[in-house]
Formats: sequence, structure tokens, C-alpha cells
Amino acid sequence: MSRRKIIAGNWKMNKTPSETTALINELKPLVANTDVDVVFCVPAIDIIPAIEAAKGSNIKIGAENMYFEESGAYTGEIAPNMLTDVGVKYVIIGHSERREYFAETDETVNKKVLKAFEHGITPIICCGETLKQREQGIAIDFIRTQIKIAFQNVSADNAADAVIAYEPIWAIGTGKTATTAQAEEVCKAIRDCIKEVYGNDVAEKIRIQYGGSVNAGNAAELFAEADIDGGLVGGASLKPDFGKIVNYK
Ligand code: PGA
Repeated sequence: MSRRKIIAGNWKMNKTPSETTALINELKPLVANTDVDVVFCVPAIDIIPAIEAAKGSNIKIGAENMYFEESGAYTGEIAPNMLTDVGVKYVIIGHSERREYFAETDETVNKKVLKAFEHGITPIICCGETLKQREQGIAIDFIRTQIKIAFQNVSADNAADAVIAYEPIWAIGTGKTATTAQAEEVCKAIRDCIKEVYGNDVAEKIRIQYGGSVNAGNAAELFAEADIDGGLVGGASLKPDFGKIVNYK
């Protein structure tokens, strides 16, 4: 089965609202002619100007995080219906930076994934090992656990629509990309894990991205792999290079 690729930018904590409008206007023509899904995940305050600037284009706007409750006394958090109200289609869940600096766990990731689906938002579910775990030879076991918990109580229909981003922590923002073989090995292991839980149909439909120092020079090789269905791109998504990544072919 051929899966449509999905290439998402993760802006992290970069760009003010006015810079957002300028950057989207700059990148819009560079990502226009492509047969991949193009998503920009931006800081909460940038979502509305991003949606305005992206109107009429092929760019979909995503959030970088979301809370798992509907509303209430959760100072500083963003509720799912606040995102859908302005047209957000995707949300990154469980990025390693959120796990490391903001105490996210596999359990909170699972709650957020369930809540995102309840509201019709597609979660981009992040997983990935530390360098130490890779050296200890436990990377795949660790990631399988992350995935199994993230998908607890998620229906097969929803699982088929999910996006998983495999991001080895040692490759994020370091300029060190996993080799194509390393990235494919883990993305395949993730698909096998989904197959064990949900069966072949869901495993064939779910899209698995690679993330970690993706750039215009390495995208084509990574995205040509059988189990890599696109990328989650940090640093290079803030530059015209993102246009080249989206047009990697
Ligand atoms: P990077 O970040 O492309 O800057 O390595 C990727 C990510 O954290 O999603």
C-alpha cells in the first residue's frame, strides 16, 4: 500500500505572531507544488496568525501541545476545543522536550492522544530513545513500550489515522541524523508493534515520520525508505530549506 507522505515543521518556541505571518508568506509558494501533506506546528499564540496566513494554501496548521481536559482550572493550558475552534488539524503529543522539561509521561501522552481523537484532531505522537538506551541495545524495547502505552484504548479506526514521529533524542537539534538504516529499522519496528496490537490493515495505514536533524540534504534518502512516511522537522522548518524538504523527490 502506498501511504501519502506527511512532512511537518515543529517550530518549537520560535517566532512571534508577526514573524509567523512573514514566515508563512515566505514559505507558502515554496511548499505549494507537492503531493505530500504539509503541516506547520506552531506555538499557541502563533496559531491564529498562522491559520490566517495559510488560508487558501495547502498548509495545515498544528499545535505543539494540548491539555487532556475539556476546560477548567488548569492555568496556562490549551483545551482541545480552543484548537478546533480556529481550525487546528494536528497536534504534536509527547515531544521529547516536553517529556524532559515539562514532566510528560507515557500516561499523560495517552490521555492527550485519546482527547485529541475525541475532538477530531490528528495527534503526531512522538517517541524515541536516548543515546544511552541506544548504546545499551534497548532502544526498540523502550520505544515499543512508549507506543503501546500511547495507544492504550485507542480504537483501530483512530489508530489508522494517527501519525507517529520517531525521533531519537540524540539526533534532535544536534546535527546528528540517524543513519537511514537506523531510522528505517526503528520505523519498521514501530509498524510491527502496531501490527501486533491492531493487525495488518492499521499497520499499513498508519504514518510514521522520522525526526532529528532532517535537512534538505538528507530528506530524500530518509523518505525513500519503506517504513518512513515523511518527517518531523525542527530547525530546518524555519528556513526556505523547508521548501526543499517538502519537494525532496
Ligand atoms: P530538529 O528537531 O530537526 O531541529 O533536530 C526535530 C524535532 O525536535 O522535532
